Amino acid sequence: FGPSYVRALAPYIAGKPISEVAREFGLDEARIVKLASNENPLGMPPSAQAAMQQAIADLGRYPDANGFDLKSALSARYGVGDDWITLGNGSNDILELAAHAFVERGESIVFAQYSFAVYALATQGVGARAIVVPARAYGHDLDAMLAAIESDTRLVFVANPNNPTGTFIPGDQIEAFIARVPKHVVVVLDEAYTEYLAAEQRYDAIGWTRRYPNLLVSRTFSKAYGLAGLRVGFAIGQPELTDLLNRLRQPFNVNSLAQTAAVAALGDQAFLAKSAEVNAAGYAKLTAAFDALGLEYVPSSGNFVLVRVGDDDGAGARVNLGLLKEGIIVRPVGNYGLPKWLRVTIGLPEENDAFLAALRRVLGRA
Ligand code: PMP
Repeated sequence: FGPSYVRALAPYIAGKPISEVAREFGLDEARIVKLASNENPLGMPPSAQAAMQQAIADLGRYPDANGFDLKSALSARYGVGDDWITLGNGSNDILELAAHAFVERGESIVFAQYSFAVYALATQGVGARAIVVPARAYGHDLDAMLAAIESDTRLVFVANPNNPTGTFIPGDQIEAFIARVPKHVVVVLDEAYTEYLAAEQRYDAIGWTRRYPNLLVSRTFSKAYGLAGLRVGFAIGQPELTDLLNRLRQPFNVNSLAQTAAVAALGDQAFLAKSAEVNAAGYAKLTAAFDALGLEYVPSSGNFVLVRVGDDDGAGARVNLGLLKEGIIVRPVGNYGLPKWLRVTIGLPEENDAFLAALRRVLGRA
């Protein structure tokens, strides 16, 4: 059944769930440390949890199909009209909607080597052609991406910071790139990790949407906001773009608890600040340990680090298995073409310590 490009899809590989690892390796769930999906180690903000308790009573009703409260909160925060916003069931939903909205079967989509796996899936899912541009220092080569745009290119995905490499491109370079992309080509700027940026790295892509009718900024509540399990993301851009996404999306694509929790989380800047603080301290700790072990890593601006755990192409899988046996779940990235590397999410201090101790044992460096 189905078109050949759908049959050829390989499913997205997610981080292994704790329960599965416990079963497979005969471990106690409570002692497993999961640093595999770039989740917030602080969990969900207590403010969001409290708001959801009240919303539970209303679960017999459909969610607000238009997400009025959440869009109002986002609109106030970012200074755009609520018709400049489309909500998604996670930002994955936004990425897929963009492929469906802007690209026809047979046309092309440009993205970088080692960029987020969903770009390739979304491209293939609409029967489009992927133009994968070789990375530069594990990150996006924007000049090469510009040069790679062809006459049938309709969409470009840029992740800043990028996953799984954590690479970051300064805002002025991103804006210069957007300014040079042909006006009929939509740029989806995926800012899933933007809340982790240091003060001096910050830039205002949402503000740029006023000047660039072909720019769509994608954000999520899954990372720094700590709501990964609820699935809430959003896109901001000129109504000509967001309206198309709105027409395509499922009518109730963001559930009621998710909408309520997202409004609370958006208002909880203290939680966001704490998350960034925990992350910065964990990053310093992990990278100092990698330096001491002589392990190469890619400097990261996200809540994770890509680290090379050996010299041969079996290294990532081998060390990953060793870590799983120790009850540590990280993310192998062989499917990204990075078989010598592992991606580890920055956790709480004790989780980072447990990971490092296990890593030393697995590498025989204890
Ligand atoms: N973009 C990037 C770059 C990501 O790393 C992720 C999460 N892995 C997403 C988008 C999607 O996250 P979500 O659907 O949870 O918003």
